[in-house]
Amino acid sequence: MKLIRFSAEGFRNIDSCDIRFSDGANLLVGGNAEGKTNAVEGIYLFSRGRSFRTADDKELVGFGKEGFRISIEYEDGDGVSTLEYALFGRSRQRKKNGYKLSGVSEMLGSFRSVLFFPDDLRLVKGEPEERRSFLNVAIAQCFPAYLSDYKRFKEALENRNALLKAASKGQYVDRAELQSWSDVMAEYSKDIYIARKKYISMLGVYARQHALSLSGGREELTLSHKCDIPLEISDADGILSEYKRVYSENAEREMAAGTSLYGPQRDDLVITINGTLAKSFASQGQQRSAVLSLKLAEGGVIKELFGEYPVFLFDDVLSELDDERREYVAGKIEGMQTVITSCEGTERLSGDVSVIEVKGGKYVPSHR
Ligand code: ATP
Ligand code: MG
Repeated sequence: MKLIRFSAEGFRNIDSCDIRFSDGANLLVGGNAEGKTNAVEGIYLFSRGRSFRTADDKELVGFGKEGFRISIEYEDGDGVSTLEYALFGRSRQRKKNGYKLSGVSEMLGSFRSVLFFPDDLRLVKGEPEERRSFLNVAIAQCFPAYLSDYKRFKEALENRNALLKAASKGQYVDRAELQSWSDVMAEYSKDIYIARKKYISMLGVYARQHALSLSGGREELTLSHKCDIPLEISDADGILSEYKRVYSENAEREMAAGTSLYGPQRDDLVITINGTLAKSFASQGQQRSAVLSLKLAEGGVIKELFGEYPVFLFDDVLSELDDERREYVAGKIEGMQTVITSCEGTERLSGDVSVIEVKGGKYVPSHR
């Protein structure tokens, strides 16, 4: 996967830009608040379906502007394509190669990129919610049906929770209605479980390799899926009936609690290093290595599934990595395209780097 250009109009602090990228490492360099992350945000939006910084895309409209339009041109095994996203007033438009797309899920799975930014450093020690969100975004890029399964699951969960809440307040609840939401929830729980389990086992292979090389063979990293049904069940019917059983057996307790106590909304990605739980015991350095391993592993899975590496977007993380890890990243991503943002110049990067200077929402290639 190769990003060729990113263009924007009226997006954040970018009046208008047309940035061209080269094959290897691209460094967006500039002071704080000049627009480095804004460009990364625009690019990554095409992989993630929405901004990684806000759920409200109206915030992306440049101050005083009526709307924005962003687009990328990229190349993959199918040749050169374009993706476009525009928001004017209430009208959102997504296009691929000039043709209208009906929604976000149609846009996903075209341009694949992996983002690594400072908040990711919380992945290891943070709450399960953050790891679930990491999984959701990563899986949606690989298995596009995941996103709609997940949405339908959430709808069923919300409906079921509303009934459980009413029950906990002593209000009348129609048992048949509760049962039917439990069944819908079980159906999508099964799909989510299958996708997560498969993805985690693929991710784990690459993450383990990276963690070993990053630590000179000292850190054995494992990933596992923590969920409410036994992991040994692997056939779809068995998984479905297990979720149905869990939801119906616990309905009384859940009616007392006023919310669903079981299901994929409580899953976690368990990370261990040398057999101990990373969330509780990993040092700062081990956390950094673990997160870096996870991010590079995301790229490995994409390569395995689709035959080519994604574009790596490193927003502001170079300064977070020590020389050794930075060298590792530089070595590992040779031949892979990267877009790196930094307040510093190229002095901390080895090899060929295309430098783009960022100032006040303008992007100027530097020919030094
Ligand atoms: P840092 O090095 O601090 O991370 P950066 O170059 O990554 O800086 P960005 O986050 O890309 O900075 O840009 C931030 C700038 O964009 C800020 O000045 C902010 O006020 C401005 N900005 C954010 N949203 C909008 C918007 N909707 N319209 C206009 N300007 C905006
Ligand atoms: Mg930034």
